[in-house]
Amino acid sequence: MRGPAGSSGHPGRDGLGLGTRGASRGRARPSPQGGPLLRKDPVVGAAISPLSDLQSLLTVYRPDLATELTALDAPAYRYQQVYEHLFLRPGEPFAQATALPIPTRIALDSYGESTLSSDASRTATDGTTKLLLSGSDGLRLETVLMPYRDRSTVCVSSQVGCPVGCAFCATGAMGFRRNLVVGEIVDQVRMAASLAGRLGRRVSNVVFMGMGEPLLSLQAVLDSIRILTDPHGLNLAHRSISISTIGIPGGILRLARAEPQVNLALSLHAADDRTRARLVPPRFRHPLAEILDAAWEHFAITRRKLLVEYVLIKGVNDSHEDAHRLAGLLRGRVVTVNLLAWNPILRSTGTLSSSEPDPAKDRRANARDLNRPILRTLAAPSRASVAGFRDTLSAAGVKTVIRHSKGSRIGAACGQLAAQHDSYFPYL
Ligand code: SAH
Ligand code: SF4
Repeated sequence: MRGPAGSSGHPGRDGLGLGTRGASRGRARPSPQGGPLLRKDPVVGAAISPLSDLQSLLTVYRPDLATELTALDAPAYRYQQVYEHLFLRPGEPFAQATALPIPTRIALDSYGESTLSSDASRTATDGTTKLLLSGSDGLRLETVLMPYRDRSTVCVSSQVGCPVGCAFCATGAMGFRRNLVVGEIVDQVRMAASLAGRLGRRVSNVVFMGMGEPLLSLQAVLDSIRILTDPHGLNLAHRSISISTIGIPGGILRLARAEPQVNLALSLHAADDRTRARLVPPRFRHPLAEILDAAWEHFAITRRKLLVEYVLIKGVNDSHEDAHRLAGLLRGRVVTVNLLAWNPILRSTGTLSSSEPDPAKDRRANARDLNRPILRTLAAPSRASVAGFRDTLSAAGVKTVIRHSKGSRIGAACGQLAAQHDSYFPYL
């Protein structure tokens, strides 16, 4: 089975050499020819889902859909209606696609179903809604819908957990489970879009700032972008999609060439390698000079303004000297620095819960986290030091804004996503 770009379903093509087939439902069998594995349903005689690496027709880029429909014994010329069903009625089985003739509906069987199931959702007072979702293998991931006055943004996950393991990040603390397949990335947006639709809104922006490091699962991310921007589907603008990375130079360059209109956000968090080494473990940490070279090359190719993310942590990276050094790295470049106060990721008993707190559970969770020595030492900066940092950068001519996380009370803010059922959904 070809995925979009002819490639998405195959293992071993991302930075980790890990497959994107992790969500297989156990019926998977590799196709010796690399094509779809079809078998005839003995009852209806129609082709039924091979579900090898084809989780759903979502993973098929629209121009390839006609071929796939033929392989599924469905008329190829129906592809437009099939595609619209997938995107305009997310999660609905094809049995309910009344615009299609019955044999086509039977042939497509369960392809309209989501690759993810929704376990719970939680809405904060600012309207931010966190969706707790699980893949067909039961692994949990999180997606956040953030309604703003003029737009609605979905923050998607690209992996379950994260292999980078940054010291200050809840996802990093949970370890790495697997990459998400392209259908699972698209389905996060489809599910958030259907929630937004119920609120009378339309998803306008997608940010890859949820769980995981998108440049370590880049093929699935690129494939999902092609599908999300298809004018016959969700029709998102490339320019309203942003990818946030800890700084993987090869991935930054590949992204620039593959999707030059997509925005790049670079999580710098330090202005020198020594400070950065306290925050980002060595396995996926690259020298700052190499990361910035890649970022400037990205700009040369795309002409897109770079967003630099800088999480301020008290006593680690928030001094006047840090701000000066950062200004020295960025001065004269087309960048905006987003300053963000570190969101504590330790649970303090009951404070994140909207209903019955469970102190014993919180204590156990805290004890687990406290085994990571660095977590014991991290603290949020004072408001004054955040403002001072901004002033130093601004005075040096570097455009800087202070960003406030949405949804922090429901564990939906930057870096808080960790899909631990008991930590953020204590009422379940
Ligand atoms: N892996 C990517 C994208 C996911 S993290 C990256 O690191 O960029 C998205 C953003 O949340 C990053 O800028 C990250 O540094 C930030 N973040 C992580 N943990 C945080 C925390 N506890 N408080 C504030 N921001 C955090
Ligand atoms: Fe991974 Fe980004 Fe969290 Fe670091 S900050 S552990 S790269 S998700």
